[in-house]
Amino acid sequence: MAAKTFALSSIGNVTVSKRRNSRRINLSISPSGKVRVSIPYWMPYKTGIDFAKNQQNWILKKLPKQKLFLPNQNINKTHKLLFIPDEAVIKPNAKIVGSNILINHPPFLDVSDPMIQKSAQSGIIKVLSKQAEMSLPDRIEYLSSYFNLPYSNLKIKKLSRRWGSCDINKSITLNLFLVQLPDELIDYVICHELTHTKVLNHSPQFWQSLETILPNYKQLKNKMKSYTPDIIISL
Ligand SMILES: [Zn+2]
Repeated sequence: MAAKTFALSSIGNVTVSKRRNSRRINLSISPSGKVRVSIPYWMPYKTGIDFAKNQQNWILKKLPKQKLFLPNQNINKTHKLLFIPDEAVIKPNAKIVGSNILINHPPFLDVSDPMIQKSAQSGIIKVLSKQAEMSLPDRIEYLSSYFNLPYSNLKIKKLSRRWGSCDINKSITLNLFLVQLPDELIDYVICHELTHTKVLNHSPQFWQSLETILPNYKQLKNKMKSYTPDIIISL
């Protein structure tokens, strides 16, 4: 399979690949935002590019929103992100000082530089992880004994697709990004996972069981839809 990647000013990188057994043009976007066009082998690459350009509006709508960490952004209402240009710094690094996440970086790099952005991300995750370790174990312990739903073990991890999980051994994993959610939603996720210690699947029996401990679970479940497990930044 032959493929070429083109940089389009409007969309970014588009990879056009030629496929032997395909008879039509196919456009796809991966979850990480890679745009791919596959075309029949005999078509020129330009046809694929023109196709992508024609579908520009659809592509831009589908592309994951690129988030940029910027100076003075608030992290979880507790910390502020600050960028410090420093002649003595060779590689960007993150330091947590009081309620500030300081990103020290060489002065010649712009804040949007991927190395600086990565450093900001790791600083933020360090803060959230610490907050999660400080609050989630106590909360699950409390809810577990209050509702008499014992679990065997708790892990706190950075997960990109789910807020939590519970395995057959009643071992529960909670997403560290949870600490950014309102308390009632943190409790929703914890109660949800604790209910899985009794019913592993999402059968009607599971939801009935959850309703006995959280009568307003439907409302909370709905509210969860406006959040995705990631860093939440606010100005
Ligand atoms: Zn579940």
